[in-house]
Amino acid sequence: MMTTAISEQASTVTLNQLLTRVARRESLSQDEWLRVIREAETESLRQLADQLRHELHPDDVVTYVVDRNINYSNVCFSVCNFCAFYRKPGHEEGYVLPYEEIYEKVEEMIAVGGSGVLMQGGLHPDLPLSWYTTLLKELKTRYGIHLHCFSPTEVYGMAKTFGLSYADVIKALVDAGLDSIPGGGGEILVDEIRKKRRTECNSQEWLDAMEAAHQLGLKTTGTMMIGYGETETQRIQHLEKLFQLQARSLAAGKPGFVSFIPWTFQPDNTPIGKVIPNRLSAEEYLRWLALSRLYLHNIPNVQVSWLTVGLADGRRGLHFGANDIGSTMIEENVISKAGANHKATEQMLVNVISEEGFRPVKRKADYTRLTD
Ligand code: SF4
Repeated sequence: MMTTAISEQASTVTLNQLLTRVARRESLSQDEWLRVIREAETESLRQLADQLRHELHPDDVVTYVVDRNINYSNVCFSVCNFCAFYRKPGHEEGYVLPYEEIYEKVEEMIAVGGSGVLMQGGLHPDLPLSWYTTLLKELKTRYGIHLHCFSPTEVYGMAKTFGLSYADVIKALVDAGLDSIPGGGGEILVDEIRKKRRTECNSQEWLDAMEAAHQLGLKTTGTMMIGYGETETQRIQHLEKLFQLQARSLAAGKPGFVSFIPWTFQPDNTPIGKVIPNRLSAEEYLRWLALSRLYLHNIPNVQVSWLTVGLADGRRGLHFGANDIGSTMIEENVISKAGANHKATEQMLVNVISEEGFRPVKRKADYTRLTD
C-alpha cells in the first residue's frame, strides 16, 4: 500500500496524547488519525474500541439478524473491476428473478425464523420503476416482512434511468413498502480510487442518494470495503465523509446510519483480482474495525463482517468494537462469487456470541431488537 508522509504539526504530539483524545471522542486531523492507525499497538486500539462499545452498549448485548440476501438481478450498466457478480446488459448469463421465485425464497426465509430480506442487484437499464414498487408491495402485503433493499448505488441507477431525483425514487419505494436502505456500493468514497475501479456512481452521488434517504427519515447502514488498492489516507477520508453525513442527519433529527459495517475485498474471479490476489490480513482488518468504531462514534452500532473474514476472526471482532455479528446470510451471491464462502446457522452465531461473553439478541435489519 502507498503511504503518505505525516505533516510536521501532527508529528509534534505524542501518540499517548492522541489516544487520550480518541478516548474522549475529540476530533483529530486526517494526519493524526493516520498516526493512530500506523503507530498504535493493536492491543491499545482494541482496548479503546472495546471501551467505547461498552459505553454505547452497557448491556453487553451483541445482536444478529436472520434474513435472506436476494440478488434480484445481475444485469448492470456499471463495470466495476472488483466485481465478479455483474453481467453487462444483453449478456447470455444476465438474469432477473421472476417474482414467483423471489416469493419462494422469502417463504424459505420465514420458515427458518427470518424477519426480512436484504434485496440488492445490479444497475438494470430496462426494468421500469413499477417492477420494483410492485415487488415491494407484494412482499409487504403477502408476508409483512422487513424490506431492507436497494443501496444508494441502485437508487442512483434508478434516478438516472427514470430521470427522477433521488428523493422521488426513494419516496416511491417507501410508499411501496421499503423500510430501510443497505449501504452497498460505498466501497471507498474517494473518486481517485473509484475511477480506477471503474465505478459508475461517484462518491458525491452515493452520498447524495444516502443523504436523501436520511432526510426522508429512513434508517440506513454505512459500509467500507477495504483492501482493493486504496490508500490508508483514502480510508480515513471515507470515514470522515460518513462521519460528516451522520452529523448532518442527527442534527436534522433523523436516525441516519444505524450501523457501520467494514468488510474486506474478495478478489476471486474479479478482473482486479489478478493485480490484487491477496486478501487483507485478519490483523489489518481488526485494526481498521477498531479504528472505525472509534472514528464513527456518532453511529450507534458496528458490525463485524464474519462473512468475509470467517467466523474465527469474526468472533475476535466482538472484542475490537463490534456489537453486532450480522446475518446468517441464508443466500449470498455477490461476495461468494468472489471467494467468500463462509456459512453459519442462527445457532452458530448465538453460540459464538455467548462463548465470547456477550448476550445474543436477535434483531431486524434496522437494528430494532426482536427479543429483550
Ligand atoms: S459492484 Fe454493483 S454496481 Fe458495480 S458492477 Fe457489480 S453489481 Fe454493478
